Amino acid sequence: MEKDFVEKTLIIFKPDSIKRNLLGEIITRFEKSGLEIKEIKLVYPDREIMEKHYSDDIKWITNLGEKTLDFFKETNQFEQYLASINEMFGTKDPVELGMAIRVLLIEFMLESPLIVSIWEGSFACSKARKIIGNTIPLNALPGTIRGDYSSDSPISLITEGRCIYNLVHASGDAIEAEREINIWFPQMGIKD
Ligand code: UDP
Ligand code: MG
Repeated sequence: MEKDFVEKTLIIFKPDSIKRNLLGEIITRFEKSGLEIKEIKLVYPDREIMEKHYSDDIKWITNLGEKTLDFFKETNQFEQYLASINEMFGTKDPVELGMAIRVLLIEFMLESPLIVSIWEGSFACSKARKIIGNTIPLNALPGTIRGDYSSDSPISLITEGRCIYNLVHASGDAIEAEREINIWFPQMGIKD
């Protein structure tokens, strides 16, 4: 029987985790979880590979804008934050805001070399997502990487004009993992 539940996932250690010397700590968490490391390399990314990784898929881009807008909706100063966003980016629309966030995200990922890795295990994608925690570190639970090592939030967009720093990327699911592994490790190819 094919072991369909055994998956590979792509984990990227983002520039903030490297600058903050958290690489060892974070890798240890994945190792201790039972996931098995299959590949790891240091990459100086160029714009082309980052544009592929953070693709121009409109659904994903809209989701970026919505995550930020939803965060502000839950504060008691939604209108002020929305006005600031409109002033800075000339829009309140989730799609256009998502596009602006994607630009900032790619700039951030180009700031320094990345450590790119593949991990394997039972339901590896959802396991890794549980280990890293919520996209917004302020909302990520203690015990997760993002929850333990950061309190960043979309407020950084207004105060510093930057994307959320959340230390690590992990594929959202097995389909995303296959796409991403093909980008970063083209010689690997999960399935032929
Ligand atoms: N991001 C951001 N603001 C948002 C949503 C996302 O700056 O409102 C950044 C953040 O660095 C995140 C990345 O964009 O890790 C990719 O977003 P995604 O929704 O795929 O979150 P992830 O899968 O990383 O949790
Ligand atoms: Mg994602």
